[in-house]
Amino acid sequence: MDKYNIHANNTNEKEKEFENTLRPLSFRSFSGQDKIVENLKVFVSAARMRSEALDHVLLHGPPGLGKTTLSNIIANELNVGFKITSGPVLDKPGDLAGVLTSLEKNDVLFIDEIHRLSPVVEEYLYSAMEDYRIDILIDKGPSARSIQIELEPFTLVGATTRSGLLTSPLRARFGINLHLEYYDMETITQIIKRSADILNVSCNDSAAKEIASRSRGTPRISNALLRRVRDFAQVKGTGVIDKDIACFALEALNIDKYGLDEIDNRILLTIIDKFGGGPVGITTIATALGEDAGTVEEVYEPFLIKEGFLKRTPRGREATELAYKHLGRSRLGRQGDLF
Ligand code: ADP
Repeated sequence: MDKYNIHANNTNEKEKEFENTLRPLSFRSFSGQDKIVENLKVFVSAARMRSEALDHVLLHGPPGLGKTTLSNIIANELNVGFKITSGPVLDKPGDLAGVLTSLEKNDVLFIDEIHRLSPVVEEYLYSAMEDYRIDILIDKGPSARSIQIELEPFTLVGATTRSGLLTSPLRARFGINLHLEYYDMETITQIIKRSADILNVSCNDSAAKEIASRSRGTPRISNALLRRVRDFAQVKGTGVIDKDIACFALEALNIDKYGLDEIDNRILLTIIDKFGGGPVGITTIATALGEDAGTVEEVYEPFLIKEGFLKRTPRGREATELAYKHLGRSRLGRQGDLF
């Protein structure tokens, strides 16, 4: 499918810079995820009152929903330093030791994609999280010995899109465990309006709603779409983003009417075309797509279910009427459907 791939999670440098400009820096400017924010506010205030490190926090949920943003906000609200790294970057125990020893008292360390830590690095993390201490083995053979390094108290914020892949010892070491949900239309519309303000571009309500409806409930996507629509408004319009120019731009970019991305559509088409609309097991769907079953289940399926394109039944996944309609497929010819 020829599609402008705005929904991909792998952002380039320029896009990262753009994301950083729009990143809320305090709880006050962070919209949505109300329950999570309310709880975090309490925990942050309590930690501040006691001048202690906040408990370790695990944030899980699909990409682009604000895990990095929230961890940054936690550090800001605690008024402590913030260091950011990711599972695949911490290749060796020495890498982890380097980051941990650079932390100051009560700092926040953010590890993105924490499910991708290597088992040996993860093992070292356990004592760091529990006792603020690491034992590093130096040298090999008969002269091998372990040295203990004391660390400053710190808060680890781990983020993952695949909480199912976390080992239970690691999961158990997080005192605060939070799941981020997709945003509703209203909140995404607010986020778009806030971003437009920061970018100093005028965007009216109906245009913001139009962009929101195609954002897959995800702020990263809504901000990326706003950026593209702004280009169209400047080149093809008057610079102002109204509904007409927003619709024109979104059509030109071939953005799905419901905000579904290429993989969402492929999942639905596979169920409909290859498995008669289901029910079919998640592993079978994933194999047909050449994707990992866990990724389909944890990253893609929740949105499709939430929006009513997919149904979970005891016998497997089923495409709904809405999915057929959206993809221009007919249910006619499906066994049993005519009765
Ligand atoms: P994740 O770490 O979950 O992949 P990020 O925290 O990097 O997501 O968020 C992606 C982008 O979306 C950032 O540019 C951020 O500004 C924006 N964003 C995320 N959540 C919110 C929110 N609740 N309000 C406003 N902007 C948000």
